[in-house]
Amino acid sequence: MNAMNNQQWIERDLGVLWHPCTQMKDHEQLPLIPIRRGEGVWLEDFDGRRYLDAISSWWVNLFGHTNPRINAAIAQQLDKLEHVLLAGFSHEAVVRLSERLVDITPAGLSRCFYADNGSSAIEVALKMSYQYWRNVGKSRKTRFISLTNGYHGETLGALSVGDVALYKETYQPLLMDVITVPSPDCFFREEGECEAAYCQRQFVHMERALEDYGEETCAVIVEPLVQCAGNMRMYDPVYLSLLREACDRYGVHLIADEIAVGFGRTGTMFACEQADITPDFLCLSKGLTGGYLPLSAVLTTETVYQAFYDDYSTLRAFLHSHSFTGNALGCSAALAILDIFKENSVLENNRLLAQTMRESTEHFADHPHVAEVRQHGMILAIEMVKNKASREPYPWQERRGLQVYQHGLQKEMLLRPLGNVVYFMPPYVVTPEQITDLAQVAWEGINLATQD
Ligand SMILES: *Cc1c(COP(=O)(O)O)cnc(C)c1O
Repeated sequence: MNAMNNQQWIERDLGVLWHPCTQMKDHEQLPLIPIRRGEGVWLEDFDGRRYLDAISSWWVNLFGHTNPRINAAIAQQLDKLEHVLLAGFSHEAVVRLSERLVDITPAGLSRCFYADNGSSAIEVALKMSYQYWRNVGKSRKTRFISLTNGYHGETLGALSVGDVALYKETYQPLLMDVITVPSPDCFFREEGECEAAYCQRQFVHMERALEDYGEETCAVIVEPLVQCAGNMRMYDPVYLSLLREACDRYGVHLIADEIAVGFGRTGTMFACEQADITPDFLCLSKGLTGGYLPLSAVLTTETVYQAFYDDYSTLRAFLHSHSFTGNALGCSAALAILDIFKENSVLENNRLLAQTMRESTEHFADHPHVAEVRQHGMILAIEMVKNKASREPYPWQERRGLQVYQHGLQKEMLLRPLGNVVYFMPPYVVTPEQITDLAQVAWEGINLATQD
């Protein structure tokens, strides 16, 4: 039988699939890209064209596709145990992984609870926080505070604490009522104002919300340093320091959603380290398995754990579960990821890559339709606007970012933007030369997308 080409796979796909985050009618014009194989930063389609995965397949991939070392770790685990329920049972990979996560995350986080995707980890943290307060006799605490432009996933609880209208608005009648506080998003700082000063200024809103609602609030949930799905908007670590201090003062938990920014994306292993804080709950997923398998973890403190630890009949246990909690293959991939971090001095090497990202895009700031180039470590974002002086955005209906995406595909680059924000969030095995190429293609794409 002849090997199937792109077109044949596309037809079969469109006959039976419904793709995520997609208006399926778009595929009448915009071809789907069926991938035959991946290797390192490259993906190859069934017509033999290749694409540099500059966004790490939605921010999950850390060390490239079909990485031999991670493949071997999973294969080894596969010969021993693929999965076992985690209630009443345990296994080697999950114990080892938990020990190592406790070891590398901010001091004071001593317990790991597992789920199987990011949104589920958020649900776990929200429920655990609420039940903690209930268990210690503070059942008036039922609400959550979150930031404008935040994103925490798309199950109903996670969607409730998020604030990206595109994903949320339709479902509003189904969602929890949360307290939404203006974010420290530095895009909106005054000209010449430093980021730290702006974040300190913006903290006033959070302080006020805690003052007004602290008594009824279980937790504040934030994405530390980068609001990724919210167009890669960034802020200064000082906001996290202020938030930690205020949460303690008002008796409110702090949930750090490091699902996207964890595992080195912002330059440190975890973004919270840059503010030297320990959240009450740390949510991890995406890079946790290097993009190989769905797995997530919520780390919390001994204080929280102890509030659930009691005789069965007190009904204080956390009776939450997912079928694939702590999956052994996922844990084995995560262990391989941590080995690579340790043995390959990844964070040190990333500094050079981050510097190349910065240098190769320095001139973008002078582009007549670029409002800002911003960066935290291995995340760099370029914001296109209609009017540079007033920062008036392009109407979303014009889908300018899509033109950059299409240009990228022609030039072997997978640069799927967020609205009008083009960004690089590459796997850490990218080379400085590839970053330079990427910047060149992004520059051309932005020129094409903004020429009229
Ligand atoms: C992706 C993401 C989630 C949701 O994770 P899923 O695995 O897609 O459910 C939650 N929070 C943040 C910050 C994310 O980037």
